[in-house]
Amino acid sequence: MELLARYGDDGRLLAGGMSLLPLLKLRIMSPACLIDISRLPELTGVNQRQGYLSVGAMTRHVDIEESRLLMNSFPWLGEAISGIGDVQVRNMGTIGGSLAHADPAGDWPAISLALDASIACRSPRGERSFRADEFFQGAYTTLLQPDELMTEVIIPFPSVRSGGAHLKLERRAGDFGIAIASVQVELTADDRVQKARIGIGAVAHTAIRPKSAEDILAGEIPQGEVLRAAAAEVRRSVGDFDLMSDIKASAEYRLAVVQVLFERALDLAVARARQKGN
Ligand code: FAD
Repeated sequence: MELLARYGDDGRLLAGGMSLLPLLKLRIMSPACLIDISRLPELTGVNQRQGYLSVGAMTRHVDIEESRLLMNSFPWLGEAISGIGDVQVRNMGTIGGSLAHADPAGDWPAISLALDASIACRSPRGERSFRADEFFQGAYTTLLQPDELMTEVIIPFPSVRSGGAHLKLERRAGDFGIAIASVQVELTADDRVQKARIGIGAVAHTAIRPKSAEDILAGEIPQGEVLRAAAAEVRRSVGDFDLMSDIKASAEYRLAVVQVLFERALDLAVARARQKGN
């Protein structure tokens, strides 16, 4: 933190280097000083706290995949993470780097929204934490200040009857997504939605939490018409954002696909939640 404060905009934290090194190679970024945080054990690991899980910012994708604590609460994270890049990327890349980098097509921004996560950071000025749904400000832009170090990602424990899913449309296995839908639902004993959290990625220039679709689900039995209405609302509300359109897919295509992906992800999440509670 002292180094960050000293170098300001000229300093850059180096975590796994999976996003930063390509930017340096392409000369998109040329910081005067790289601050390697990869050997700070305090920033690594998954720990159980009162009512939540704490994931250190330097925890690598592979460590998350192998964390029994995380997999017990959110088994679907295994599928989500196995689709990030390739083995080499997952062995080096970190959750903190992914969130700080805020690639709109990245998996972690959407996942963090579905997990209802908060992001804690620290600087010589003190500590702050942000809810994931306020953290992402746009493509590659977050609320982190240049002198702030992300320290941990805080994930509330789900209720017993919960399930989630993360679906991504990609051209080839391990690619960045063309559309991503992440969802986590918690059901009451009589199968109504107690809580639903949705994260949409790769469609707009930032990850989106379509709250109006969550509201459609709240208190309802999530099946048939309710699922379709929530999916239509995802498409409608995401359509209000500045959408991505590139060589991989047009904005219209992404929008159409994300509605279908979300409906499938929700269906899967609900089935998993029902199974868990029985
Ligand atoms: P770095 O590259 O080291 O850092 C990234 C940025 O975050 C830098 O600006 C750095 O200063 C900042 N930063 C890092 N840690 C902190 C911290 N603790 N506090 C504040 N700022 C910090 N991602 C996906 O989601 N899905 C994919 O399918 C995918 N495919 C990939 C394929 C390839 C070939 C590659 C190279 C990458 C891919 N990625 C993918 C990105 C990968 O997930 C990286 O892990 C991720 O982008 C973050 O990289 P990193 O942890 O190595 O951080």
